[in-house]
Amino acid sequence: MSQLSEKEKKLIIDSIRDVPDFPKKGIIFKDITTLLNNSKALNTLMNHLEARYRDYNLDFVAGIDARGFIFGSILADRLNVGFVPIRKKGKLPYTTVAEKYYLEYGFDEIEVHIDAFNNIEGAKVLLIDDLIATGGTAKAAYNLINKTRANCVECCFIAELCFLNGKSRINSPVYTVLDF
Ligand code: AMP
Repeated sequence: MSQLSEKEKKLIIDSIRDVPDFPKKGIIFKDITTLLNNSKALNTLMNHLEARYRDYNLDFVAGIDARGFIFGSILADRLNVGFVPIRKKGKLPYTTVAEKYYLEYGFDEIEVHIDAFNNIEGAKVLLIDDLIATGGTAKAAYNLINKTRANCVECCFIAELCFLNGKSRINSPVYTVLDF
């Protein structure tokens, strides 16, 4: 399994821009657009993820709306497996299964097509997103995958906000590339 060198890790960390007070005061937003437009950093990251997941014998990579689509699609293509989008409510055109999750005020909902994993019972799925904060979104996505009778074998995040301990809410192995 590949390990990132300290130099490679620094290249990726330095490519992520901190935007203070977005979308509201007190939040430091981890902006990955500056990672995406840095070909060296993006290539280093994707080489690392490809090497890590090469021998997992995955059937699918599922990405969370919207930044998870970017990393997830690249990885799925490199591993020669299908990609599945997990979307915010109301965006998918065919029959869906849905999962609600609670936010600070109110709730949100995500969906996946009912046949997204080709109805393969136990299909091995890697879930990916750019960042885990409280873990609410990832937990809902994990539940959603299992509702379709596929099997979420690991959740992968490019970055984790460790002080929120979101990992502890998810019942599957979690891999994070960068810890903040
Ligand atoms: P959570 O459900 O609290 O783990 O939030 C995770 C989702 O919100 C992911 O889709 C992230 O892209 C986004 N998110 C939450 N906090 C941040 C942050 N500080 N910087 C960038 N994205 C964030």
